[in-house]
Amino acid sequence: MENILDYDYTALKNKFEMEKLEPYRTTQIFDWIYKKHATSFAVMTNLSKQLRERISMKFIIDMPELVKKTKSSDGTVKFLWKYSDGNTVESVILRYPDRITGCISSQVGCPLNCAFCATGMSGYVRNLTSGEILSQILGMEISENEKINNIVFMGMGEPMLNYDEVIKAIHVITDPKAFKISQRRVSISTAGIVDGILKLSEEPLDVILSISLHASTDDKRSMIMPVNKKYSLEDLMEAVKIYQKAKDRRVTFEYILFDKFNDSLDDAQKLVKILKDIKCNVNLIRYNDTGSTFKKTPMDRAEIFEKFLKDNGIEAVIRAEKGEDISAACGQLRRQTL
Ligand code: SAH
Repeated sequence: MENILDYDYTALKNKFEMEKLEPYRTTQIFDWIYKKHATSFAVMTNLSKQLRERISMKFIIDMPELVKKTKSSDGTVKFLWKYSDGNTVESVILRYPDRITGCISSQVGCPLNCAFCATGMSGYVRNLTSGEILSQILGMEISENEKINNIVFMGMGEPMLNYDEVIKAIHVITDPKAFKISQRRVSISTAGIVDGILKLSEEPLDVILSISLHASTDDKRSMIMPVNKKYSLEDLMEAVKIYQKAKDRRVTFEYILFDKFNDSLDDAQKLVKILKDIKCNVNLIRYNDTGSTFKKTPMDRAEIFEKFLKDNGIEAVIRAEKGEDISAACGQLRRQTL
């Protein structure tokens, strides 16, 4: 049995063609699943009973089980999903005045082992299929009876290490016949997998590239992000420049502020230097405590850091903290229930 969610529109149309089914059936089924939130073929009443039965022999709509749902006082909702093999991932809905963001996972666990990240602490299990990625969005929309209009790959896992499935999922996320979210409202966040960034620069896609930088020297970055030993800051920034040139779009940098580790004016100055040729926005995130040795930078120092960047011509903002009361830091909910 195959998960129909693993098929993007073209793949399903081709599959149906081979099965001697009319191409417009693909549109009908996409409509039922992605617009009307059908989770079984039985409810697809504009398909004959015979056809529904025929499709049910080959496909399932494989939705994960909702194990836990936690709501924050600020409207953030965190979901823990369980796939049929027992593996769990989390996703989050974040509410802003102008958008509803779905933060989704691309892998079960993560192999990168960043020192501050709770996901890394639980190790790496496997990649998710595109259908498993998409089912998180469907699950959240169904559970909250709401349409998500912004997607960030900032849940568990490193999307660039699951490149093909992530790209396939993005095809469905942005497909007008499916989720219909504009490409500029989809962000891929990476710890700095250079090969992936270069590949994405050649993709006919216009999504937002977000780089988890977190330090402005190789020494410091390698201390907290082992991936930096494979792809140095210089290589990373070179790849970002190539991406920028190919897309002519602003790139986002995420920079977690850790108390007295990377939050001095000297750190800010070095950051300005490496970002000076790049059109970018910097999101400053005060570290969300996950039980590591790091501490959160106090707000006043974060503001000084932010001001220094702005004074030096770099667009920077301290990202509002959301869902703190429900353990919104990456990987926390799953760890609590493991
Ligand atoms: N692997 C990808 C995407 C998942 S992490 C990446 O590294 O970008 C999404 C973001 O959350 C990254 O910027 C990551 O560094 C950040 N993050 C992880 N743990 C955090 C914590 N405890 N506090 C604040 N941000 C955290």
